Amino acid sequence: MKSKFKADAIMQVLDIILPNHQRPLVLHEPSFAGNEWNYIKQCIDSRWVSSAGQYVNDFEERLKTFTGAKYAVAVVNGTAALHLSLLVAGVKAGDEVLLPTLTFIATANAVKYIGAIPHFVDSSEYSLGLDGAKLNQYLHDVASQKPEGCFNKNTGRRIKALIVMHTFGHSVDLDLLLRLCQEHNLILIEDAAEALGSYYKGKHVGHHGLLSIISFNGNKIITTGGGGAILTNDSLMAVKARHLSTQAKLPHPWAFNHDQTGFNYRMPNLNAALGCAQLEQLPHFIKKKRDLAQRYQQAFKSLEGIKIFHEPDYATSNYWLNVLLLDEAHMQERDHVLQLTHKNGIMTRPAWTLMHKLPMYAQCPLMDLSTAESLERRIINLPSSAFLA
Ligand SMILES: *Cc1c(COP(=O)(O)O)cnc(C)c1O
Repeated sequence: MKSKFKADAIMQVLDIILPNHQRPLVLHEPSFAGNEWNYIKQCIDSRWVSSAGQYVNDFEERLKTFTGAKYAVAVVNGTAALHLSLLVAGVKAGDEVLLPTLTFIATANAVKYIGAIPHFVDSSEYSLGLDGAKLNQYLHDVASQKPEGCFNKNTGRRIKALIVMHTFGHSVDLDLLLRLCQEHNLILIEDAAEALGSYYKGKHVGHHGLLSIISFNGNKIITTGGGGAILTNDSLMAVKARHLSTQAKLPHPWAFNHDQTGFNYRMPNLNAALGCAQLEQLPHFIKKKRDLAQRYQQAFKSLEGIKIFHEPDYATSNYWLNVLLLDEAHMQERDHVLQLTHKNGIMTRPAWTLMHKLPMYAQCPLMDLSTAESLERRIINLPSSAFLA
């Protein structure tokens, strides 16, 4: 027999399965149990602390090995990685870029940085990421193919790219979206900021599209303090991104020459040193986080009106943040659950406010977003640090 939905019951289950010596318990906390001190000390002892340093190259090599991507470019954060990806992909001011409305703000901001226009797409309850089938239908109605590319019949603007986001570490259905991009002549970019250590049909996410990005912010699965990376299998994209990230400086032993307006986006050595130590522990973090997800699933099995989100069949997820999903009948209880857990020192949080509801993106083109709107009101993220397992 399932018991009736009650916010108190959710609170009780959390109190039992989460270690009770630690309150408040934050949503996601990094672990530094490996070579962090050692590698950072080497940076300081060698006096190579900024971008020209061996750990930056080492970190890129290790990222390539772990993900299977041919090229990796380490940069200052995930947002900068998105900005550069859009630039090297050839997205121009006035182009439209399709992206989910259910995402972190950085995805939309990066589009805006280059003067392009976010065009918001609905999400699927199965993956929490972009709904490929629904987007396919929508594009059949609004997109028209011209020799120069895909155009929006309503706005007259070119639709140049599609950014997918692997929400909370769960991969979108990449085969479906790749096919859709081929059919409509769109560039696919993966915002895999949350998905290091996540797989789609056994292959690491982040190199199915032309370019993808990862974030190493302090709350992500591994951290460099602040940091990000671009992954790609396209050598030209990698060369262009690296060049733009280092002020577009032409290599020379002493002369300073630059062939375009570049950016100071290269990751410093200190951050990369931290990243190398963190990557060594990543398989361990993933195992712990998958164990924690299972524990949540077990613990909440008998509660009515909710479920703990489970990875899609095709995916093996890093479970970056666990999701407690309220049934539609109980979505008015969300704030009560948030309040009660916070009052008891357990830091839960709702989904991000949808992009199309924010003042700076309220005028952007969009499709029917009813699933994302429902998910936004039903998602509660639970504490998910690796050490909790
Ligand atoms: C964290 C995150 C980013 C941005 O990463 P930063 O390193 O914080 O700039 C981008 N997209 C998504 C979906 C994220 O979760």
